[in-house]
Amino acid sequence: MPMRKNGSPHSLRLRLFVRKALDFFFPRYCPVCEAMLAETEIGVCSHCVVKMPRYIEGIQYGLDRLNGDIYIDALHALFIFKDDGGVRPMIHALKYRGHAEVGEMLGRMAGRRYPMLSREYDLIVPVPLHPRKQRERGYNQALLIARGLSHVTGIPVCEALIRSTYTESQTGQGYVERKTTMTGRFALHSAAHPAGVRILLVDDVLTTGATVQAAAEPLAAASAAKIGVLVAAVTRRPSLRTLLSVAAE
Ligand SMILES: [Zn+2]
Repeated sequence: MPMRKNGSPHSLRLRLFVRKALDFFFPRYCPVCEAMLAETEIGVCSHCVVKMPRYIEGIQYGLDRLNGDIYIDALHALFIFKDDGGVRPMIHALKYRGHAEVGEMLGRMAGRRYPMLSREYDLIVPVPLHPRKQRERGYNQALLIARGLSHVTGIPVCEALIRSTYTESQTGQGYVERKTTMTGRFALHSAAHPAGVRILLVDDVLTTGATVQAAAEPLAAASAAKIGVLVAAVTRRPSLRTLLSVAAE
């Protein structure tokens, strides 16, 4: 029997039917507003998503935080992470409340928002968590976003980086201090060969840019052709409160 393509209308209808049936017995709720999700919604409800402040490429800043010793070609983001609004509870649901499906949703959303990425990059590399942190959480949220993005753009995901040292919470550290502690925290996986490859680094939130800078280091050292960054949200200005809540990872 011929295999049906995963995204065919038939299989979509079937999936929606199955989800509707499951929702009847096990209703799913939006982690931001707690309204019941419709069968077509995954992660956060559409009412919450439309209210979130969008990151407008080329208008809002963020790229300036990334360009230190290593040249970062571009920054792509979905939302502005503000103290008010739904972005903060959405990211918290993803990182601290076990809502792994929010990662997949954000990745797919980014893929639809930036369709040109498939022409501009060869490989998606998620920023890794330290294995201990990943065991505690059960997943790496950056990898979930990367997979959702890959699903839409068709760009393969490669876990090319490993986190070499356990980073204690960076809460309360200044930018320079944080940058210093991050340097050398990432290494290239022995099987990864990024020379000449256009790489899109994926993380959840861009705060000071120190983590992404550190993650880009071994890729640049191994002669990656280009390094771009995609995050779900960019902080408006790394306020102390924001640093306290997101820098702990
Ligand atoms: Zn909602």
